[in-house]
Amino acid sequence: MSACRVPADAVSTCAGPARPTWPRRIAAAIMLGLFFGLPWLRWREAPVLLFDIEARRIHFFGLALGMDAALPLLCLALAALALLCLVTSLHGRLWCAHACPQTVLTRLYRTLRSVVPGGRTRKSPAEGALQQLLWAACALWTGITFVGYFSPIASLVARLHPFALGGWETFWVAFYALATWSNVLFLHEQVCVQLCPYGRMRPWLTDARTPSVRYLARRGEPRGPRAAGGGSVAQRDRGLLDPVTARDYVFRAAHPASAGPRPSFSDAHLGDCIDCGACTTACPIGLDIRNGDHLACIECGACMEACDRAMALQGFPAGLIQRTPACDGGTPPAAVPRARPLLFGALSLLLLALAIAGLLART
Ligand code: SF4
Ligand code: SF4
Repeated sequence: MSACRVPADAVSTCAGPARPTWPRRIAAAIMLGLFFGLPWLRWREAPVLLFDIEARRIHFFGLALGMDAALPLLCLALAALALLCLVTSLHGRLWCAHACPQTVLTRLYRTLRSVVPGGRTRKSPAEGALQQLLWAACALWTGITFVGYFSPIASLVARLHPFALGGWETFWVAFYALATWSNVLFLHEQVCVQLCPYGRMRPWLTDARTPSVRYLARRGEPRGPRAAGGGSVAQRDRGLLDPVTARDYVFRAAHPASAGPRPSFSDAHLGDCIDCGACTTACPIGLDIRNGDHLACIECGACMEACDRAMALQGFPAGLIQRTPACDGGTPPAAVPRARPLLFGALSLLLLALAIAGLLART
């Protein structure tokens, strides 16, 4: 089970600087800003977006659309769906990691949890109560905002005190507040794994060149703790393993019952994975990304960040886990036109053109 020697400088192709976390924060801030802000915005004396059920009208960026605009609006919604499929085929589950309401609200709750005194786990009862109170307030405001897309939000808020909301307004505010509160608190990423259909569609939306969060087994295997100061595989004469050997090590680590006890390796033979388990601990789904692709992976990047920190502590280059089209054992797919992106791109353009034509025909 010897390592196939590959020049150490080849590792530079699969190692990179620590990834910044600001893109996800900015995306979350934009999504939250859009969701909470849109009902308050006005365009030409009318709401920017309002589904006025009583008047059977949709206010959309200055247009007051009746039910006869249902078809162009359906085309617009389908164009957005096709655009999401296009982004997924080109860049993987960026939507899940950056913009999905479930992800963004869960991230908001975790930020709130970390800013309430007492840290994440050692809160006093008073600090715990404050955290719950703040989250309940956020959930209630989410419910009010959601209903604000169907009933003018300024009037909705004005009727909160003294309380004068109608029956259906009260029901839906309470329903969405409760759903937000419990979803994030009790279900969080289980919604993505058990309920969301988008993740299950991933195999149909992506191809071999779509990037995904992956563990670079050729660099990381064989995994194991080692004495400090030994250097990464790039810094000593180890290099990358050949793909078959790397896969064999991964299989042995993932299936100890059938593969038997793992052999012990000298520090010089070890790969860059120090087997600290930080990636598994960080994963909100409970996956071990080192075992390979998994349909439940929402590509949130928590394992990448945890591993980058582990690599930094060792003085190793970041990027043992990274977003990449293929594990570093694979041959890069040929640069031929990709059917899925072309299909989804054409579909989104066609549907967008139909929607615009339908809307313009009415004005
Ligand atoms: S932390 Fe888990 S869900 Fe997130 S990218 Fe890593 S394996 Fe996927
Ligand atoms: S965080 Fe990185 S070094 Fe630690 S177990 Fe996971 S892959 Fe290995």
